[in-house]
Amino acid sequence: MIRKRPKFLATGIRTWLLRSLGLPENERVPAAMILSLLVACVVVLTVSATLGAFVYTYRAQQDLLALRTESRDVRSVQLALLDIESGARGYTLSSRPDYLQPYSVGSQALDDNRATLGKLDRFTAELSGSALGTQTVSSLIAHLRSELSKLISAAQRGSASGTEQLAHLDRTKATMDTLRQIIGQFLAARAGEATRAEDNVAVLQRLLLALQIISGVAILTALFLAFRGVVSQSRARAAAMGEAVQNRDQIGHLLSMADMLQSAMGYEDANAVLRATAGRLLSGFGGALYIFNNSRDRLDLSTAWNVDGAEMSHPQVISPSQCWALKRGKPHTNCAIYGALRCSHTLDGQSALEIPMLARGEVYGLLQIFSDDPTGADLETIKPLAIALADSMSLALSSIALRERLRNQALRDPLTGLYNRRFMEEVLESFVLQAERRNAPMSAIMIDLDHFKKLNDQHGHAVGDAVLRDVAAAIMSELRKSDIACRYGGEELIVLLPDSDLVTARTKAEEIRNRIADVSPVEGVAVSASLGVASIPQTSASPADLLTMADAALYKAKQEGRNRVETAPARMTLVKP
Ligand code: GH3
Ligand code: MG
Ligand code: MG
Repeated sequence: MIRKRPKFLATGIRTWLLRSLGLPENERVPAAMILSLLVACVVVLTVSATLGAFVYTYRAQQDLLALRTESRDVRSVQLALLDIESGARGYTLSSRPDYLQPYSVGSQALDDNRATLGKLDRFTAELSGSALGTQTVSSLIAHLRSELSKLISAAQRGSASGTEQLAHLDRTKATMDTLRQIIGQFLAARAGEATRAEDNVAVLQRLLLALQIISGVAILTALFLAFRGVVSQSRARAAAMGEAVQNRDQIGHLLSMADMLQSAMGYEDANAVLRATAGRLLSGFGGALYIFNNSRDRLDLSTAWNVDGAEMSHPQVISPSQCWALKRGKPHTNCAIYGALRCSHTLDGQSALEIPMLARGEVYGLLQIFSDDPTGADLETIKPLAIALADSMSLALSSIALRERLRNQALRDPLTGLYNRRFMEEVLESFVLQAERRNAPMSAIMIDLDHFKKLNDQHGHAVGDAVLRDVAAAIMSELRKSDIACRYGGEELIVLLPDSDLVTARTKAEEIRNRIADVSPVEGVAVSASLGVASIPQTSASPADLLTMADAALYKAKQEGRNRVETAPARMTLVKP
């Protein structure tokens, strides 16, 4: 119980401090404040002690002065006694009147020092075992003076014999000796008291000096602490201001990034905004953005920045199963130190902070921020900022993905994934215009599955659908990025081939026919197609003419026995040089 008291006291002081400072009770009391308080206590204590010591020293010096005055007065009494005794003795023995002069001076001094005699009386009264008994110093002196006076009178009359005079003098000597002894004791006692008082004053003066030094040191410490507090406060304020300005700038960059991302039409726009913002917010750090492909089995490198040859050195593709950030669904730092948990796609000697990009409950990609610091400590510092960047970008990616999905739904056929007829007609116009502007050829292949009605009838509509899907995939596998395949209607498909003349298109059509034939073993049914090829400018002059000619060629292929490629006849006008 006793041990708990200081803790209780400390808690009490702490609570009092916090309340007086107007701080909440769970706040930490600043160490500088406790020190300042302690220093203030020391200063108050030393100042009080110094004042007390001053008062005590003053009083002690007053007492010392009184003691010295008292001793001087007693010594005057002692001298006066000697004067009256030696004067009377000299006169008695020599009868010379000049001896009466010290006698009368001493008598006068004794009359003047009655107060001192009173003090001597009190002193003897306090002395235990005094030889005086009930007598006092005053009465002894009065007795001595009367004896000496009688002796002088007898000497003046000449009535006393020499023997009587000597006997008389012996008696006065005994009284003188007693008085001398008492006065000696009194002076010795007062001298002892004075020495003690002087010692006390000396000790106090040393103490006073020590207190003044302590007080000075405490005041200097308090001043130093106050100065340091002011300096650290102003530094903290400047740092807070700097941080606030930096935060404001960062928020500004993030807001303008979000604003710009809203206007991003596609991934390229979003990547440009990301590169610009990351360059400003995380200057000095390289980075890369990976985005999930449509089948969500891998992430493709979408963009990279601030990394020398990043496009070359960083993997173009990342597997989600190799990435700790994606597996854990939270940011992961790949440190370059030995024994750290690292994803296999990170480059040797490079640390990488990886942040999965989540929006609306779906992961859209992975943001990587690189550092050459093997410990990855600097990546930890910028982690909140990188997460904010990834969050903004995730939202943009989800919006772009949503937009693409909606666009695809409007443009694509849901069964085959190929473009629909409306889109093909729009594209065909612009393809033909571009071809004419660039003076380049372009071709169309019209494809119709052979005896598809029969296939449906024999094997069911579901098998028919599966065959259609496989045929679409087979066609896509033969096309370049710039080619367009679409479902024209039913089991009729069209492929548009920019920059392809009739010969090239025919070759491509043969390859497509072979690919379609390959679907047969997959589905376990006989699948074949007839294809008609037409080209601008070799067989046709306009978009409508191109489709008509391709359809005519297809009809011819059907006529010729199906499972074959036919080309439209060349235009007559082309014969001109
Ligand atoms: P041909 O060799 O002359 O082209 O014979 P065909 O049976 O293919 O004749 P046609 O082109 O007239 O028949 C088209 C058939 O394709 C009719 C329809 O049953 C089938 N078909 C059209 N669209 C679909 C579809 O989306 N799914 C399935 N399973 N069948 C379809
Ligand atoms: Mg048909
Ligand atoms: Mg058909």
